[in-house]
Amino acid sequence: MKLPVYMDYHATTPVDPRVLAAMTPYFMEKFGNPSSRTHSFGWQAAEAVENARGQVARLLGADPKEIYFTSGATESNNLAIKGVALMHPGQRAQILTTPIEHKAVLDPCKWAEWQGMEVVFLPVDRHGMVDPAAVEEAITERTVIVSIIFSNNEIGTIQRLRDIGRITRSHGVLLHTDAAQAAGKIPVDVAALHIDLLSLTAHKMYGPKGIGALYVRGGDAREILSPLLDGGGQEGGFRPGTLNVPGIVGLGEACHICEQEMAAESERLGRLRDRLQGGIFNELDEVHLNGHPTERLPHNLNLSFGYVEGEALLMSMSDVAVSTGAACNSAGAAGRSKGSYVLEAIGLPDDLIQSSIRFGLGRFTTEEEVDYVKERVVEAVRSLRELSPQYAAEHANRSRR
Ligand SMILES: *Cc1c(COP(=O)(O)O)cnc(C)c1O
Repeated sequence: MKLPVYMDYHATTPVDPRVLAAMTPYFMEKFGNPSSRTHSFGWQAAEAVENARGQVARLLGADPKEIYFTSGATESNNLAIKGVALMHPGQRAQILTTPIEHKAVLDPCKWAEWQGMEVVFLPVDRHGMVDPAAVEEAITERTVIVSIIFSNNEIGTIQRLRDIGRITRSHGVLLHTDAAQAAGKIPVDVAALHIDLLSLTAHKMYGPKGIGALYVRGGDAREILSPLLDGGGQEGGFRPGTLNVPGIVGLGEACHICEQEMAAESERLGRLRDRLQGGIFNELDEVHLNGHPTERLPHNLNLSFGYVEGEALLMSMSDVAVSTGAACNSAGAAGRSKGSYVLEAIGLPDDLIQSSIRFGLGRFTTEEEVDYVKERVVEAVRSLRELSPQYAAEHANRSRR
C-alpha cells in the first residue's frame, strides 16, 4: 500500500490510464483544429470531438446535439445561471435554488441578484433533502429557473429530481442541476428526470481537469441562454474558442468507462464505504453521520466526531488525505476555514460542524486502504479525546455505571 492514502475523491480524481491513453495521440500526432475544414488534420480532430460528444450524451441519455463543451462545472453553472439571467434583463425574474449548492452556483446567483433578479432559497431538511412540494409552493409567475444540486459534494445527499422535474416541467420553468458529483457515479437520465440544463466536469470522473460540459435540452442553447463569451462560431457560437480536443477526448472516454462500469463500481464502493463506516462506528462512540442515511452517493462518508476538532484530527493523520468540508471553501484570505455552510444549512450544531471529516472513496481505493484509514481514524480520535477534559468528564460517569 502506498502512503499517503488518497480518500478525497470528491475534490478530484486521478486520470484513469485508459483515459490518458485515449487522449495522448491528440497532443502531437492528431493535433488538428476541429474548425479547420480544408484538410484531414481538421477532419480527424472534428471526428474525435463528435465521437466524444456522443459518449457524453450516452451517459446522460441525451442527444449529442444537446452537449456543449466547457472548461468544467464552474463554467457550465455560470452559463446556466447567468445565461438565463441575461435573457431576462430588468424583469425582476426569480431563481429558486438551495443553500447547499456549490459556490459555482451560489456565486452566479449572487451576480444575478446584483443584476436585479430575485434569488429564493428552498429549505433543506436535516439530511440535506429538498422537499419537491416546497419547490411547487415556491414557484411564481416570475420564476424562470430552478437550480438544484444533483448530489451534494460534502454530504452526498441525492435529491428527488424526478419529482422536482415533473413540477418544473408542468410550470414551464427551467430545471438546472449541478451534476458534477453525480455524473458517472449514479444513473443520470435527463429525459426521465425532466432536466433542462445539467453541468458536469471530467476531473470528478477520472478525466482531466479543465474540461466539462453543459447539457441543454433540445440543443438550441442560444434560444434560452445568453453566451458569456464572444468570439468564433464554435459550439454553435454559444461557447466560442478553439476546442480543447485532448480534453474533450478524455472527457468522452471517461464518460464511456463510467457508463460501462458504473453499476459494478458503485456496488464495490458502497461495500467499502459501509465497511469504513461500520468499522468506525463499532470502535468509537459519539460519531454522527452527516447526510441522508440511504439516499447518498455510494462512495461518500461524512462524519462528525464529538469532542474532537476536525482540523486537529486531520493533522494527526498526516498520511491520510481527507478533508474537512469542501476543498473549495477552505481558501479564505484569513487562513482558517469558517466551517461548512452545507452542514450549517442542515442544522448541525457548531461543535459538530467543526468536528466533521469527509471521506471520498473512488476507483482506485482498496480494502487495505479502507482498513488502514479506519485504524488511523480510531487511533487519532481516541488519543485526541484522551486530552479532552470535557469528554473525560461526560464519559467517566457513564463507564462507572
Ligand atoms: C467540483 C465541483 C464543481 C466545480 O467543477 P470544476 O470543473 O472544478 O469547475 C462544481 N460543482 C460541484 C458540485 C463540484 O463538486
